[in-house]
Amino acid sequence: MTGIATLLDVSGRRVVVVGGGAVASRRARVLVEAGALVAVVSPEISVDLAAMDVTVSRRPFEAADLDGAWLAVACTDVTEVNATVAAEAQRRRIFCVRADAASGGTARMSAVLRRDGLTVAVNGGDDPRRATALRDAISLALDLGELPSRPHRPSAGSVVLVGGGPGDPELITVRGRRLVASAEVVVVDRLAPRALLAELPEGVEVIDCGKSAHRHNLSQAEINEVIVARARAGKRVVRLKGGDPFIFGRGGEEWLACVAAGVQVTVVPGVSSVLAAPAVAGIPLTHRGVAADFTVVSGHLDPGRPHEGGIDWPGLAAGTGTLVLLMSMDRLDLIAAELIRHGRPAATPGAVVYRATLAGERVVRAPLGQLAAAAQRDGIGAPAVIIIGTVVDLLPMVPD
Ligand code: SAH
Repeated sequence: MTGIATLLDVSGRRVVVVGGGAVASRRARVLVEAGALVAVVSPEISVDLAAMDVTVSRRPFEAADLDGAWLAVACTDVTEVNATVAAEAQRRRIFCVRADAASGGTARMSAVLRRDGLTVAVNGGDDPRRATALRDAISLALDLGELPSRPHRPSAGSVVLVGGGPGDPELITVRGRRLVASAEVVVVDRLAPRALLAELPEGVEVIDCGKSAHRHNLSQAEINEVIVARARAGKRVVRLKGGDPFIFGRGGEEWLACVAAGVQVTVVPGVSSVLAAPAVAGIPLTHRGVAADFTVVSGHLDPGRPHEGGIDWPGLAAGTGTLVLLMSMDRLDLIAAELIRHGRPAATPGAVVYRATLAGERVVRAPLGQLAAAAQRDGIGAPAVIIIGTVVDLLPMVPD
């Protein structure tokens, strides 16, 4: 959260705003948002102010307006009036913000940002834009994990399942990146944006699950155990996963393990390879007049035995929508044969996007009937996303 605010707790407290123009209305808004009981005094009241949850007195300021007030905010465009308010507030020992002369009052409003229990207030004196610009830069740097904002007090321990995106460290969300930067334990998958690990401060425990199709450093049960154990030990655990945690990422199982153990768990969505791989290859999954649906399928299960995975291969073959296959490189020949057998034309355009957004990224295009052979000829295996449908050949490439 960012805004202009005082660091006083004004909620439920009377604050008197003297003035009825644009500045008064901006000040009144943040005070109302902070829960203050705002009384506005001014002969003229802007439409904005009139619509706010404030009490309005349409007349000049009187000393008695400050009765019972905790704070006065003088923001008329008449210096003498502001000075009168400030003097009266001073006499009554009420703090006063003067909008026309920042140094004239006894309190200042600041550009504020609040994030994860942290409050940063920047006061620019007579130059509020300077303050907001610096505040915004600090906000961005915090988002990027460039500033030391890690909590030092022990916390209750928690797990965040962070979707890291398809691999390029720039494709994680701002929130995901910030949480990685402040984690005490990072439990990371092979296909997560591992480049981010290099930026972790010393002392952060990194647990590498090294997951690949054929090599499991840690079993799923062990992963569940370790995230729960570290959270129970009071650590902020980030479970950094590839793509989105809830798309073929077993994030649901990790969530359930946390809930069963009474460990607080949240999820930060990520850009799934389902969306990223076609995008980087210039393949729109939907296109007006060409494809109005796409289906995402795991090819992990044997297409010859559809009952096993509950995937309706004949149904998918009969449809005309775009198909997106994950974890299917081992069985691409079988899957393609099954789709063709049930009615997808062998000439349907297909593409394999290998290591999307990562070093070594490659795209192979071929008709469905020849796709597996084409990928094999090019030596392309997992990790790859396969796209089948007319959309594959839709967009012309701009020559380099
Ligand atoms: N949760 C992940 C998917 C995990 S399943 C997501 O949302 O993206 C693993 C499969 O994802 C791989 O077999 C591959 O099909 C696909 N995949 C993940 N990252 C990839 C990448 N950078 N390039 C191509 N395919 C990728």
